[in-house]
Amino acid sequence: MLTVKPIPAFQDNYIWLLRQDSQERVAVVDPGDAKPVIAWLEQENLTLDTILITHHHQDHTGGLQALIERYAPTVYGSANDAISGIDHRVGEGDECRVLGRRFEVYAVPGHTLDHIAFHAPGTPGLLFAGDTLFSGGCGRLFEGTPEQMRDSLAKLDALPEDTLVFAAHEYTLANLAFAAAAEPDNAARDAYRRECQTARDLDRPTLPTTLGRERQINPFLRVDEPGLRETLREQGPVDDSMAAFATLRAWKDRF
Ligand code: ZN
Ligand code: FE
Repeated sequence: MLTVKPIPAFQDNYIWLLRQDSQERVAVVDPGDAKPVIAWLEQENLTLDTILITHHHQDHTGGLQALIERYAPTVYGSANDAISGIDHRVGEGDECRVLGRRFEVYAVPGHTLDHIAFHAPGTPGLLFAGDTLFSGGCGRLFEGTPEQMRDSLAKLDALPEDTLVFAAHEYTLANLAFAAAAEPDNAARDAYRRECQTARDLDRPTLPTTLGRERQINPFLRVDEPGLRETLREQGPVDDSMAAFATLRAWKDRF
């Protein structure tokens, strides 16, 4: 069985660590900092087999060189020459084997143009979404357009509802505060928000989430809900789903 564990980094990043049964060789996703990864591997007597990189931002790639020098892992990442150290540059439709498990790659531009997501099909499937899909939210548009982000989220939203979503940041409570303003009348979201508050009070991660849950609570997957449309109307154009999505994303930026 593949287990996944968060290694906290910086203020609110998670570096996800993947381990197959009790094997010594493990994988990490988006090591923005090498130090906490090395500390964990040392403590547990593990070595690094594979690194997955979702996009070029420093808080996802900063630890790459130090980890390559120390462990010489295989590195899969997006097809962006600006990231040095990637052995296999992958994109939409590509597959890779990580610790014996098959992973599919999706191109999910929006937060950045080079952003990809890694999905291991299974029951449940595992989705490493980087800064594209968060619990209760989605990534800020640094490079892409609202159209690109909406298509990228739709691609991920097509996966089975039990899919576990491992996002790269603990942004859930802030996202849910915005979600409450955007869609005031959502009892499932209110209950989930209380659960997440309790988790954070105990210093526990709110992640992974599931796609099924995100469909119930994440406004960025719910722009066609009448209640959400109603509040969005006061913030900008809502003529169709695309306009509503763009209005929602822009509102979150100034929230
Ligand atoms: Zn980022
Ligand atoms: Fe990030």
